[in-house]
Amino acid sequence: MHTVLILGAGFGGLELASCLSRSVPDEVHVTLLDHGDGFIFGFAKMDVLFRGQTVDDVRTPYDTLHLPSVEFRREAVVAIDPSARTVTTDRGSYTPDTLVVALGADYDCDATPGFVEDGYEYYSIHGVHRLRERLDAFTGGTVLLSILSVPFKCPPAPYEGALLLHEELVRRNLRSRTQMHMITPMDSPIPVSPSANTAIVDALADRDIEYTPGTRVRALDPATHTASTRDGDLAYDLFVGIPRHCVPDVVQASGLTENGIDGWIHVDAATLATPYPGVYALGDCADAPVPRAGVFAETAARTVAADIIAHLHDSPREGRYRGQGTCHIEFGGGLVGKVEADFLSGPAPLAPFVGPSVEFAREKAEFAADRRRRWFGP
Ligand SMILES: Cc1cc2nc3c(=O)[nH]c(=O)nc-3n(C[C@H](O)[C@H](O)[C@H](O)COP(=O)(O)OP(=O)(O)OC[C@H]3O[C@@H](n4cnc5c(N)ncnc54)[C@H](O)[C@@H]3O)c2cc1C
Repeated sequence: MHTVLILGAGFGGLELASCLSRSVPDEVHVTLLDHGDGFIFGFAKMDVLFRGQTVDDVRTPYDTLHLPSVEFRREAVVAIDPSARTVTTDRGSYTPDTLVVALGADYDCDATPGFVEDGYEYYSIHGVHRLRERLDAFTGGTVLLSILSVPFKCPPAPYEGALLLHEELVRRNLRSRTQMHMITPMDSPIPVSPSANTAIVDALADRDIEYTPGTRVRALDPATHTASTRDGDLAYDLFVGIPRHCVPDVVQASGLTENGIDGWIHVDAATLATPYPGVYALGDCADAPVPRAGVFAETAARTVAADIIAHLHDSPREGRYRGQGTCHIEFGGGLVGKVEADFLSGPAPLAPFVGPSVEFAREKAEFAADRRRRWFGP
């Protein structure tokens, strides 16, 4: 039995485990580690924040995972030695034949001075609960929404958050008493997709949400409730930011980020292999030139599965990572658009946008249901 150790049972880790389980259950033993007790889709945080769902409603517990040749263990990874291919957890240690790091991205809220004290975020479950409480007490004023650093998970998510917040404020009769302003250091929402940019920027304008691209919020002053930018200070009553993203501490300490772009794990973009033999990294923690999103973690996992199987069978590798994925974008009102992105197949990325429509909303729901079936078993 070839042993595969997957660190992180998120989008990428679950997809890889299920691919190996379906394709070569008699040839591999997969150990899947995560310190959490269940999987939550990133986009489900919007359901908790805006649609009254609880965390229990949107979490799929790991103890319901039943895939042939896959063993889930709830353990925290505390050290990774990629040269020795050894992993230490709070319960023991492992030296697998193949090691796959899929530990996702963490948030560095301290990177923006004043943000921890006076800002809100909805990228973590803790942040969702805190923001929900603040929104419940909100009676109108100025809301600044800001992307604090790039890259960040799911490029459309900050805009989805703005559109869904607008919808909530309309429903609560607070919109006429609220100014909304979206500020981003990027020049456009989805740089590779002019058609998605138009749809998003038009949607913001239609809802009277001011949009300022190319501007970074450097710090917040909790005493005056102002955000400082290159062009001056902006007053707010509620500041909602997308925090700076970084690799988890255990990855940082492992040396895996050496030579990685902007502090991420360095991988061969075609294979997701790290410079260490038998060690791969995929998803948000790796420096593959694709956005941080589950759909790209998923296709990366398929590439790694194919590579592991090719090695097992001593056969040529099947293709290379193409950085493809379908991103759904919520516009509010039950409407969802989608971008069919292909980053690495051709000379330049392609990402045409279609919708928004009710049909794509149904498609997004089916996308999630399909993953739950595939990743957790019948
Ligand atoms: C608000 C929001 C909306 C989003 N919407 C979308 C969307 O519509 N479509 C989309 O494709 N993506 C979306 N995303 C992004 C998506 O959630 C991530 O890009 C995706 O989950 C990345 O997959 P991953 O496998 O790399 O990491 P993750 O799914 O984050 O998995 C990493 C796992 O590692 C575990 N872990 C971390 N450290 C340790 C440790 N020390 N020991 C043990 N376990 C550990 C974590 O518990 C986690 O389960 C959204 C994200 C957010 C925040």
